[in-house]
Amino acid sequence: MKIQAALLHQPNTPLQIETLDLDSPGKGEVLVRIAASGVCHSDYHVMNGATKHPLPAVLGHEGAGVVEAVGTEVSQVHVGDHVVLNWAPACGHCFYCLRDKPNLCETFTEPIWAGVMLDGTPRLHLGNEPVYHYCGLATFAEYVVVPQESCVPIRRDVPLKVAALVGCAVATGVGAALYTAEVRPGESVTVIGCGGVGLNIIQAAALCGAEMIVAVDTNPAKMELARQFGATHALLSNENTLQAIRDLTGGRGTDHAFDAIGVPAVQEFGLECIRPGGTLTLVGLAPMGTATNLPGAIITRQEKVVKGSYYGTVNANRDFPKLLDLYVAGKLKLDELISQEYPLSDINVAFDAMLSGGVARGVVMF
Ligand SMILES: [Zn+2]
Ligand SMILES: [Zn+2]
Repeated sequence: MKIQAALLHQPNTPLQIETLDLDSPGKGEVLVRIAASGVCHSDYHVMNGATKHPLPAVLGHEGAGVVEAVGTEVSQVHVGDHVVLNWAPACGHCFYCLRDKPNLCETFTEPIWAGVMLDGTPRLHLGNEPVYHYCGLATFAEYVVVPQESCVPIRRDVPLKVAALVGCAVATGVGAALYTAEVRPGESVTVIGCGGVGLNIIQAAALCGAEMIVAVDTNPAKMELARQFGATHALLSNENTLQAIRDLTGGRGTDHAFDAIGVPAVQEFGLECIRPGGTLTLVGLAPMGTATNLPGAIITRQEKVVKGSYYGTVNANRDFPKLLDLYVAGKLKLDELISQEYPLSDINVAFDAMLSGGVARGVVMF
């Protein structure tokens, strides 16, 4: 079938809206009509070349839609299902899946980095040229073909634009506080970076019962937004930020800090924000090849803990429906995360807005 999609031909060039050929779903694959796709920094890391990916590619990995057709040997989803797409699909039987770490599933690692399906080939084409699927999803397109394991069926009474965000920013942020760091009632938390991921860490820390939630960002517009999502204190990042956090915590630092940005200097700052015995959780994805300089002497002497959080340590099939239940119950703010909606033709405008930092989340609507 012919579809409209946003194509990246070369790093550091705008996305181009093109008509592509999309093959029918093969064995174990599913055709999904995309309803909404969020705009995320991880897509931008491919656009600016920081993440290497086979090109040309269709980006987009925070999507939700409706199953239109299924290939052979598909048992986990059905035509008509509303689904959130999962960019870290799990096979259920590899080393990590058997150890209850489906977010680290190794079966899909290689095909996803290669931009292809499990059989090693893409379903997208531009003329005779292959086009690759970012994260095995490629949601900046009217339709996608994905492995059935990438589809998480959800309740039908939630808007699909809200559901789309669960597929990246919400799972990553809420999961980091709930499942990776396991914030406990009464604890104190610093969250550095108040974009789509950081705001979700803030609201999840509040859900966990954190008593003090200190939000830090360079953008004054984020201060009020952070408070709306549950921050008890909002600090504009400057040379006094660390002292301000210590002043709030008897000179010790907070029990937890979260880096929601993915920049080595921010990660190093995060370690300074926590008290001895506290936990720093690294959530934002730093570009591959960068290195963070954390002082081993401090980590040892002060028993500080540093954790990586990949996709919020979620089990997508278990947790995506649960996150949407929390939204319906009024315990997670998801509508408020969407600051702007765009048609596919304005996708480059959406990325410009994300980079200027004024928005929580921009969503492309189909
Ligand atoms: Zn993302
Ligand atoms: Zn697996």
